[in-house]
Amino acid sequence: MSFRRLLAALWTFLIATVAFCAAAQALDAVPVPLDDKTLDLTDVIEFASRTPSDRVQVSTAPAADGIVRRIEVRSNQPGGTSFWVFFALTNTGDEQIDRLLVAPHFRLAGSGLIFPDLGASRIASITPSQGFAPERQPSQDADVFRITLDPGAIVTFVAELRTPVLPQLYLWHPDSYKDAVNSYTLYHGIVLGISGLLALFLTIVFVVKGTAMFPATAALAWSVLIYLCIDFGFWDKVISVSPGDDQMWRAGAEVLLSATLLIFTYTYLNLNRWHVRYSHATIAWLVGLVILIGVSIFEPAIASGVARLSFAGIGIAGFVVIVYLALHHYDRAIMLIPTWLLLMVWIVGAALTVSGGIENDVIQPALNGGLVLIVLLIGFTVLQHAFAGGTVVQTAIGETERRALALTGAGDIIWDWDVPRDRIHTGADAEDLLGLKRGTLEGAARDWLDVLHPTDRDRFRATLDAVIEQKRGRIAQEFRLRGEDGHYRWFQLRARPVLGADGEVQRVVGTLSDVTEQRTAEERLLHDAVHDNLTGLPNRELFMDRLSAAMTRTKAEGAAQPSVFVLDIDRFKQVNDAFGLSVGDSILLMIARRLARLLKPQDTLARLSGDQFAFLLLSESEPDRIAAFADSVRRTLRAPITFGEREIFLTASIGIAMLDAAKPIEAEEMVKDAEIGMYYAKRNGGDRIEAFRPALRQHGADSLTLESDLRRALGRDEIKVFYQPVVRLEDRTVAGFEALVRWDHPKHGRLPPADFIPLAERSGLIIPLGLYVLDRAARQLADWQEQLGRDVPLFVSVNVSSRQLLRHDLINDVKSVLTRSPVQHGSLKLELTESLVMENPEYAAQVLGRIRELGAGLSLDDFGTGYSSLSYLQRFPFDTLKIDQSFVRGPAAREKRVILKAMIALAHELQMEVIAEGAETEDDALDLYDLSCEFAQGFLFGHAMPAAEAARLLFAEEEEALIA
Ligand code: C2E
Ligand code: MG
Ligand code: MG
Repeated sequence: MSFRRLLAALWTFLIATVAFCAAAQALDAVPVPLDDKTLDLTDVIEFASRTPSDRVQVSTAPAADGIVRRIEVRSNQPGGTSFWVFFALTNTGDEQIDRLLVAPHFRLAGSGLIFPDLGASRIASITPSQGFAPERQPSQDADVFRITLDPGAIVTFVAELRTPVLPQLYLWHPDSYKDAVNSYTLYHGIVLGISGLLALFLTIVFVVKGTAMFPATAALAWSVLIYLCIDFGFWDKVISVSPGDDQMWRAGAEVLLSATLLIFTYTYLNLNRWHVRYSHATIAWLVGLVILIGVSIFEPAIASGVARLSFAGIGIAGFVVIVYLALHHYDRAIMLIPTWLLLMVWIVGAALTVSGGIENDVIQPALNGGLVLIVLLIGFTVLQHAFAGGTVVQTAIGETERRALALTGAGDIIWDWDVPRDRIHTGADAEDLLGLKRGTLEGAARDWLDVLHPTDRDRFRATLDAVIEQKRGRIAQEFRLRGEDGHYRWFQLRARPVLGADGEVQRVVGTLSDVTEQRTAEERLLHDAVHDNLTGLPNRELFMDRLSAAMTRTKAEGAAQPSVFVLDIDRFKQVNDAFGLSVGDSILLMIARRLARLLKPQDTLARLSGDQFAFLLLSESEPDRIAAFADSVRRTLRAPITFGEREIFLTASIGIAMLDAAKPIEAEEMVKDAEIGMYYAKRNGGDRIEAFRPALRQHGADSLTLESDLRRALGRDEIKVFYQPVVRLEDRTVAGFEALVRWDHPKHGRLPPADFIPLAERSGLIIPLGLYVLDRAARQLADWQEQLGRDVPLFVSVNVSSRQLLRHDLINDVKSVLTRSPVQHGSLKLELTESLVMENPEYAAQVLGRIRELGAGLSLDDFGTGYSSLSYLQRFPFDTLKIDQSFVRGPAAREKRVILKAMIALAHELQMEVIAEGAETEDDALDLYDLSCEFAQGFLFGHAMPAAEAARLLFAEEEEALIA
């Protein structure tokens, strides 16, 4: 407790001492002259020291009788204040004096730079030592009090302040004050008028000309106008602001002034053209200023301080840039020099004023006027451009600008390596291209190694080292940089070392350009030369090259014998016609992909032309395996291609040429042989595989001759019907025969049906030929049946081709054949393939129905090679199913057996008998029997043989049975 009391006592003592000291400085009363218009009291006033309480004690100036009195003044402000000033005035004349005490709210002079005083209401109240309290006069921008001094009076005034400082206190003659205010108002009006007109005019010019520099200039003009409005107290008339409370607005206006000056400089000098760095700096600066506008609401003094510094900064930086650009003959910069010099003078003046270096009453209006003048000059400069048109810009382009423009135009990236500091600068362009984070490519040269392609690293490092060591030369190098997604892009670096005064390399500067497109184009060209551009497969040249290489290896090293397949899509032209070329291309692409899947690594698939593909098969050399491969190619192609809602069925004609070790030929010849095979397959209706044999050459040469030969052959008995036995697997007895046609050609020898049936189909000769075979087979069957007797069942099946089926007369033919040769019901069978039936299913169903009614049997031939939809084929009245040899022959792969089993089971389910074709070995036969297949046909039981031989087989059996 006592400590507190002690402290209070000490405090009271202190105050008393201070008060005494204040009083002790004898306060001199200032005589108020009668004639002077103004009296500056700023230096006369005494500051009472800060009092902790809401009152102050002051010793008055000595009265005429020398008595000094003490007066105490209480604060009439809520909460009290601790800032007090006092001064004394005396009227030495013999007239009453009327004066105005004026304390302006804001003074630019001495307001400060860093934390400026943005003005405020200064004096709360004034208390005189005698007489009436001075009366406050209405004023927006100053605290004005009217005082009256009687003759001979010495009055001490105690003023209670609102702010710790009082920048100025004047005693004005009322009339003069009124005059001064009026003349300022006039001046303000003029300045505001000019600046308003200017702002408006520049805005209009912008609307008319639309070039970016006009709105930038107009913005500057408007912000000057706003600044002046605030400074002149004009703002208060627009927005209601209590007197002395406009700090926020003032600070905001200063920030705005700074920002618009920056925008103007940037826009007018077209800084974006020179270097992105200018844009980045400007944007960063602007963002700072925008934030500052926000700050000005809460901390006007801080905002204003920063704005003032920023304004000066822009002025100086602008000056440097302008001088630099002017030295490089940039006309805009040259034209701005006078204005900018004025601006610099203004900035120096303002800086002096603000810091208190210049202290007079004219400087503030003068600076305001100067601001308008600067904007006016800028306006003129800008207008020159507006009316000079584009010519000035086009002709008087500076060298630097030209270079900068050229760089931007070329899309090259600046690459700058600061060698002593080991920093590479590339700007954001390269990073953007690669999708890298900003700054990834900015840094030490060794950081680049991480981004470089591993194979380019050493070369890059070595080149940089070499340039630094040799201090000359030029870098021209291409390398890859890894992008964000892991893909590499190609860049070309062209740069040169720049030597410093010490002869050392200071930097290596040049450009970096993205050459990925060119590089890939080059690579593509190289690839294109030997690859097909649609499918990407090797083309004919590459194919030929690989083929001859393979043939050489076969000869030299005894490597695998190559075989060549040439494959042509059947009726591809129709696909193109029906769906258009682009669909055709997609289909070719799809085919290429399907075929490519069949390849082993050592094989080659090439696209020879349009719809022609070729295989170079090295992985298989056994004729059997090659045939199997050909078959898998055919099957692959036959799988329907779904296109939109449609399904497209494609087939191909395939020619195969195998290398004959005995007769060495050239690669060209081999492909040609395969092509002959392919053309032959095509001529024979397509969808078939044809191995080349020398006989084909002649066929190919004159199929017309062959046709006339065939015409004659029918009359000359050259056509023979052979019979291949079909055996009951249960007891291996002959159940029937398949009639297979042969042609004993006088020149070419015995031809298989594949060599002439297609030709016969095309020429229409198939009709007489087919009828001939049917008739001969029926007669033969009737003959045999007669010999065997009624109890022994025997059938003969005859192949029917598509032309025959589609002809109405087939029914009549079958009818007449059956009348001529009475055979057991259903024992003369017609064999049709499913593709034949599917050509016209409705019609086929009808015809086949009639044929069944006539008493002929029907076999479905080559089952498993086509659509293989038994449930669909159920619609047709087949009684026998012939499973294609490809499921029977050769080693039974597991899946093959599964399918075989399923087919047999299904056929039985549908009440059909099953004949397996192509049983060549005992194993095949046993297998089939195991799968409960009842009949088999194949080389194991006999080749196709002449009738006499077939009869021997049949009757020998019969005799054996009889003997048994
Ligand atoms: P296809 O109707 O499938 O006839 C069976 C073919 O397989 C016959 O060939 C036959 O000799 C052969 N073959 C039989 N067993 C085996 C075997 O165990 N292994 C192997 N690898 N092959 C076997 P061919 O005689 O050359 O007849 C070929 C095709 O010509 C026939 O196929 C048939 O579609 C057609 N064809 C034959 N004669 C005629 C005919 O008179 N008229 C019509 N339109 N086409 C006929
Ligand atoms: Mg057949
Ligand atoms: Mg068959």
